[in-house]
Amino acid sequence: MGQSRGLPPGDMAPGRSERVQRIMAAVDERRDELVAFVQELVRVPSVTGQEGEVQALVAARFRATGLETDVWEPDPAILAPYAEHVTMTDFAGRPNVVGRLPGTGGGRSLILNAHIDTVEPGDPARWTHPPFAAEVTDGRLYGRGACDMKTGLATHLFALAAVRAAGYAPRGDVTVQSTISEEDGGAGALAAVLRGYRADAAIITEPTQLAVVPAQGGSLMFRLHVPGWSAHACVRDEGVSAVEKFALLHRALLAFETRRNAEIAHPLYAPIANKVPINVGVVRAGSWPSSVPEWLEAEGRAGLVPGEELDAFRDRFLAEVEAAAATDPFLRDHPPRVEWFSGQFAPAEVPADGPLARLLLDAHQAVTGGTPPVEAVTYGADMRHFVVFGDTPCLMYGAGDVRLAHHADEHVELDELITSTKTIAVAIADWCGVD
Ligand SMILES: [Zn+2]
Repeated sequence: MGQSRGLPPGDMAPGRSERVQRIMAAVDERRDELVAFVQELVRVPSVTGQEGEVQALVAARFRATGLETDVWEPDPAILAPYAEHVTMTDFAGRPNVVGRLPGTGGGRSLILNAHIDTVEPGDPARWTHPPFAAEVTDGRLYGRGACDMKTGLATHLFALAAVRAAGYAPRGDVTVQSTISEEDGGAGALAAVLRGYRADAAIITEPTQLAVVPAQGGSLMFRLHVPGWSAHACVRDEGVSAVEKFALLHRALLAFETRRNAEIAHPLYAPIANKVPINVGVVRAGSWPSSVPEWLEAEGRAGLVPGEELDAFRDRFLAEVEAAAATDPFLRDHPPRVEWFSGQFAPAEVPADGPLARLLLDAHQAVTGGTPPVEAVTYGADMRHFVVFGDTPCLMYGAGDVRLAHHADEHVELDELITSTKTIAVAIADWCGVD
């Protein structure tokens, strides 16, 4: 492994190399148990809204491993002032589960977060490995949530277990979180922050393919209301089609996206072709095939990069729609309307050369001998809640490929799972200090 080769001098602390070896060995010894635990999690479906059953399993596991375990349902009244940042639904029967290992004193604290909810499995016929069977074939574990991100929760739990099994007690508090409702905006993680779970740093094991991800995009949901003028199809030229007017506005939004991509100078986003996607995902219009449609509603999602303010972006988006409408005689007199709805997710970042990013780079290097890529992502995730509302620096690092995350045959490479577990374990010891 050559884990001492390539380490920066500051990390050549006496005993670290031996500690890394012992922690890695402790992870290897638990490989089968770790894989079995991921399988156990995948076999209990936990689509957003139905996290209760799997959380009971998680809570039992946390208690069995000696963590001080806190189980609670997010309180809508406490979340209410933050309603635009999450999706407010019914949280009854959908608890968060948080397990805490108090430090022996004098170390930095660390939160290890994973969301337990998953997206729907979709059409089962598209899966060659059934979505809740958790089959292991050719070094891969298949199933809904396998990479996004039941693997991530197991990573945290087994990383902490490996540190302790190797004979080390973290000096700072380590808190493992299994939170709900990430896929629809992160009410669970926000509820944990608002309950007072803050720390000197937080790591989320979203599937990053072992890249260190200190920057996440934001996203805003919009609804565009486009007017038309109804007429019988037989005299359609006497009406105005809202569908045709939408086409004009849609082209304007795509041109806006192109201009934004050319303007954005954030260095971590430089390798990403479309840094700020504007996607129209739903279009509804008209009421009858033989009538000119007098209304259209288009729902979409616009992306933001860290450093952009939500209000300023919303103003600019509106100005783009108005400018496009001004070029059309009908829309000039019948202006389209923009409505913001559902989650309004802020982008977030921590310094790419800051202490937390350095921690993961060093830990990954100690484990693999190589340097992981440092990347940004264009999606939104729970890290923003820690950074924006919890005053807790947070980044993402984990096994699995996000491109597989919401698809049929979602899977994780077991070797990546083991590497990420070793990296998180070494990071716990490095960050919190150990006795
Ligand atoms: Zn996820």
